[in-house]
Amino acid sequence: MKEISRIASAVVASTTLAVDALAKQMKAEGKDVLVFATGEPDFDKPERIKAAAIEAIKSGQTKYTAAAGLPALRKAAADRINADCGLNYAPEEIVVASGAKHSIFAALMALLNPGDEAIIPAPYWVTYTEAVKMCGGVPVIVEAKESASFKITAEQLEAAVTDKTKLLILNNPSNPTGMLYSREELRALADVCVRHDLYVIADEVYYRLVYDNKQFTSFAALGDEVRERTILVNGVSKSYAMTGWRIGFTASPRHLATVMANYLSHSTSAPATMSQYAAIEALSGPQDDVEAMRKVFEERRNVIYRRINAIDGVSCILPDGAFYVMLNIAGLKGKKLGGRVIRDADDFALAFLETSSVATVSCVGFGAPDFVRFSYATSMETIEKGMDRLEAFIRSAE
Ligand code: GLU
Repeated sequence: MKEISRIASAVVASTTLAVDALAKQMKAEGKDVLVFATGEPDFDKPERIKAAAIEAIKSGQTKYTAAAGLPALRKAAADRINADCGLNYAPEEIVVASGAKHSIFAALMALLNPGDEAIIPAPYWVTYTEAVKMCGGVPVIVEAKESASFKITAEQLEAAVTDKTKLLILNNPSNPTGMLYSREELRALADVCVRHDLYVIADEVYYRLVYDNKQFTSFAALGDEVRERTILVNGVSKSYAMTGWRIGFTASPRHLATVMANYLSHSTSAPATMSQYAAIEALSGPQDDVEAMRKVFEERRNVIYRRINAIDGVSCILPDGAFYVMLNIAGLKGKKLGGRVIRDADDFALAFLETSSVATVSCVGFGAPDFVRFSYATSMETIEKGMDRLEAFIRSAE
């Protein structure tokens, strides 16, 4: 048989989705599994959003839409991010895709030529490196240490630039670290991008989930010379608990929007029409639910942060946003847990799942082998129980 695609064969399956599937299977088998794995809000979505989708189906709004999305959705998305982030996008600069992950693919398809380098700060969301490879690019990792609040500096970025560098992928607030770049920190990174003529894919899907009254700055809001080289990625999954509806969008200069829409027209044609109607309602209806969910996430973050740091042998830093916390397991390396010698986060996550039935995500695939990601997009009861199990598990270390 002939060799199948080398690019596709080199792609590693998504750890987040693999753990999620395993945890769901264990639950279906009747096991008392506590899930801190996938970044998926546990809330049900607001009734008004469900009603909009049902109405779309009932009234026959179920045919193809334009590849870039319904004009009303492109307008709703532009209005929302313009109002929230001080931006000035026209509806024609918005392109809707089947989830923010797909928007990232569209952005990479639009920008990368074979062999182009894409700078990705680590810890990174597991999909970035694989998506870059699938689009013919080469991921270049810049490590952000925990002691630097998991944020890269302008000097680090500058040092990673070569004549092949095409773009930077910046996720703010970050999955998996939860950290938020300040306006000044973004400004310094933007200066490097402008100086070296780099594009920026600014993944801002967690922008509504920021705590301690911190201020979120959208990358594209840093000035015209930054906006013209930025593809901003956003979506409804995290802000409105709409993960399964698969609606993401980009905001970018018009010529890039056209290229992305052309790519989408040959891949999915357009996202599901009823999902688009639901997203219009999500983005343009009353926004109180978003703030209510944000407040609950902040309370959960405070509890998980306090509980982790009360356990000897592990620690975490306080995340500014999103709904993830990074458990530092470096102090456990070489010890035995659940019959397994802990060499990295893969060993820890597996031993914890097998021994204590708690599903977490190892950050080996996120470029951070000493860390395990806990998603606190789960109930306070699960958080308290999970922390009890974590405490007992770590106490059992030999
Ligand atoms: N982005 C979420 C996560 O990191 C959802 C799963 C995925 O698409 O990776 O858990």
